[in-house]
Amino acid sequence: MKEPAASSREPQRKAEIRIKVEWCKGCGICVELCPKGVLEFRGSHPVAVRPQDCILCLDCENHCPDFAITVEEKSDEEGS
Ligand code: SF4
Ligand code: SF4
Repeated sequence: MKEPAASSREPQRKAEIRIKVEWCKGCGICVELCPKGVLEFRGSHPVAVRPQDCILCLDCENHCPDFAITVEEKSDEEGS
């Protein structure tokens, strides 16, 4: 007899969040918009402090006036 192995149903999607600090002007829009508190300021620019909480909504990427932040779905098969 087998039990369904579905005890944890957390989403498997992982986010790769990149911030080009040389393009970022530190306006804070991305930090304000993020619904999951993924981004926090560290000095003059944001850092993804909780990338595991990212839901890939792309609000940060779509509203950054300087195209300084990008979010991509990371495949689990990528080893490194
Ligand atoms: S994609 Fe959405 S959840 Fe992820 S860091 Fe950007 S605003 Fe936050
Ligand atoms: S919205 Fe863009 S320019 Fe503004 S703080 Fe975030 S990454 Fe930097």
